[in-house]
Amino acid sequence: MSAADIYQHSVIIQLIALNDVLQKTQRLAEVLKNLVNIAKLRLSDRKLKQNIRDLRFATKSKHRLLKKFAESVSPYAWRKMEKEIKIMKKKSYDFVLNKETSTYNIASCNTTYHLKSDLTACTCDFFMAFELPCRHIISFHIQENTEIPTGSFAEHWRNEYLEL
Ligand SMILES: [Zn+2]
Repeated sequence: MSAADIYQHSVIIQLIALNDVLQKTQRLAEVLKNLVNIAKLRLSDRKLKQNIRDLRFATKSKHRLLKKFAESVSPYAWRKMEKEIKIMKKKSYDFVLNKETSTYNIASCNTTYHLKSDLTACTCDFFMAFELPCRHIISFHIQENTEIPTGSFAEHWRNEYLEL
């Protein structure tokens, strides 16, 4: 073989090797593309499931004064509140203002609950446990025809924290 032949030969060998690498890279690219697609699919699947949950959640009718608040908290928190609303609907509460303590006293069968006059806290079990608007707070707002202000209760129930 002449020097030129050897050179040509080595170029061909290099080209073959390069082609091999390129093909492998292409395969790698394809594998990566597939992985990305799978991840995307999983993501959209999760989004879809969330949307279905949200939809199911949204189809339940909400009181006009509670709607904004309901949308500001997690579905779990709202389900807790719905149970309170169910109980509240069967009852009527008398809110007796005590100016000295700035609370409304609510007489129950065996105890008296104290609702802060600014409606941000109550001494009932539900509020003490969850720091969510209880039957008394909700009832007061409905009687007064005022919305429950969003963002006025425990931060960890808020929807925005779920999205992180
Ligand atoms: Zn209460």
